[in-house]
Amino acid sequence: MDENLKDRIREEIQRQIEAIRQNLSDFRERADSVGLDQPIGRLSRMDSLTNQGILLSGMDKSKTRLARLEQALRRIEEPEFGNCLECGEGIAEKRLMALPESRLCTACAEEAGS
Ligand SMILES: [Zn+2]
Repeated sequence: MDENLKDRIREEIQRQIEAIRQNLSDFRERADSVGLDQPIGRLSRMDSLTNQGILLSGMDKSKTRLARLEQALRRIEEPEFGNCLECGEGIAEKRLMALPESRLCTACAEEAGS
């Protein structure tokens, strides 16, 4: 992979990591604001439990993605970064920019059903 592209992908990974960290801190604030110790009615408590569930599952997804992006940031220094694990072909630049943590090319990812 050429250094120029590598630099751009590295920047993109850092940008996405930053965005997710920001999201997670927003999530935390909102999760706190629907705390269970608040004296609220039964129905609104159900609502806030549902909301909290949505928030927590959103946080889980963001955390998983964050971990993958952090791995990608380390892997980008390896010579095989950007090559598909399955077929060994280079992963398309567009795909790497959108999903820098991709380890499969578009064709193999589709075949794997993800
Ligand atoms: Zn492939």
